[in-house]
Amino acid sequence: MNVARNLEFILKELPSAVKLVAVTKTHPDDVILQAYHAGHRIFGENKVQELVSKHQNLPGDIEWHMIGHLQTNKVKYIVPFVHLIHSVDSIKLLNTIDREAAKNGRVIDCLLQLKIAKEETKYGMDSDDVLAMLCSADYKQCSNVRITGLMGMATFTSDESQIEKEFENLADTFRKIKDSFFKEKTYFCELSMGMSDDYKIAVKAGSTMVRIGSLIFGERKYQ
Ligand SMILES: *Cc1c(COP(=O)(O)O)cnc(C)c1O
Repeated sequence: MNVARNLEFILKELPSAVKLVAVTKTHPDDVILQAYHAGHRIFGENKVQELVSKHQNLPGDIEWHMIGHLQTNKVKYIVPFVHLIHSVDSIKLLNTIDREAAKNGRVIDCLLQLKIAKEETKYGMDSDDVLAMLCSADYKQCSNVRITGLMGMATFTSDESQIEKEFENLADTFRKIKDSFFKEKTYFCELSMGMSDDYKIAVKAGSTMVRIGSLIFGERKYQ
């Protein structure tokens, strides 16, 4: 596995406006450092414990993204340093992040995770949940979080037209929410979609941020 070469290959293919989140879950520090020394600075983890320990062990100028499901009782561990939370899927979670961010004197950027896949296992809200959230008093009182866009994961399938449809739906929802709630807000600009197997489809559908693990670091070995 040549991490630097894999990174270079992917970056060459991505339009320059699309950000690459290198997903490091299950990979050891020395492998992650290969990406760091190749110049990469944006890394993503899906578990709080792993995110916290990697943040502690690795260089301080890394921009850490939380991309996995986040439980409210664990928010406090990542709030001091996290750069972007991709996986906000309830007003309760957003309120918790807001409260913990205030304690830390921070404003934390968050993406709302939408459920676009057919599988029952994927987390996320539907667009009605998002509308309800953005209209709620609980949302309006938040001053230590900033919603900068949306995130979604497509169905795990080889049917590319299905994946394409799901990403286009998400891009459509993004435009509608932007128009209704964030029209003048230039910070509402991120559409996090696309992983190793489907990032090209996602980019075509308008992704601004892809989250790629195995294509950079190889297959994951779970214990
Ligand atoms: C693991 C993970 C990824 C990256 O998956 P790959 O298929 O290895 O690229 C992207 N997004 C989320 C939320 C993940 O948990």
